Amino acid sequence: MVEGPTARAYSIKISNEFKDEVISEIFTRSKKVLIDIREIIGRKFSGATSLGKNILLFFEDIAIRIHLMLYGTIHIYRKNDELIKPKERARLIIIGNNKKLVVFNAPIIEINKKDFLIDNLRNTLGPDPLNEQWDEEKALKNLLNFPNEKIGVILLNQSIIAGIGNIIRNEILFRVGINPERKVSEISKEKLNNIVKIYYELSHEFLDLKLNSRSIREILMVYNKFNQSCKVCGNKIIFYIQQPIKRKTFVCSNCQR
Ligand SMILES: [Zn+2]
Repeated sequence: MVEGPTARAYSIKISNEFKDEVISEIFTRSKKVLIDIREIIGRKFSGATSLGKNILLFFEDIAIRIHLMLYGTIHIYRKNDELIKPKERARLIIIGNNKKLVVFNAPIIEINKKDFLIDNLRNTLGPDPLNEQWDEEKALKNLLNFPNEKIGVILLNQSIIAGIGNIIRNEILFRVGINPERKVSEISKEKLNNIVKIYYELSHEFLDLKLNSRSIREILMVYNKFNQSCKVCGNKIIFYIQQPIKRKTFVCSNCQR
């Protein structure tokens, strides 16, 4: 599952491993190619970053946006290495002078002019805590705009705050002590502000763990801990599927009200 920190960790790894490659061939199965794809040939890979759960690769003034959703993966090989899966199953292959970058199973791959792609993305996403344009007040304001939504539902809406996936959603709500079924209007402004601050801290902690090849499981308090004892009060953690988002939800009904 890709959340903001996973996307950022991928982008850092790609920036390092695919550095300075000059593109000689590109192939994609995506229909979202909004420029003449041959324009990438001869351009140099100029780095990668992430915005929300999107991974962005730059080739001078051209950008590729990749959203891995649940099953997508990105691999970098030496140019003549065999792929781990048949070439026909790749969604994107970019061949440089020494290495090749291959994406499997990613449902979204968009290729476009860099400025255009980034503007579009910024207009559709809420603030991202891993981005230098993170804006805590805007994130809080966005939440307050939806008083009738359940907090557990609204946190996954990428246009409100970007990068929150199901693990982070569960962990934030446990740490703030809020039941995911609570409506935004039932939560104090102070607690909503805590949600935003804790998201910022958690996303940086998750990213640090990933960059040091450690598991985020080390710091999880509720996610996937059904029937285990709450680390704060000792009560059993309950599990259900929250509607209408149909996502796995873990709660300590004593600590989260
Ligand atoms: Zn508890």
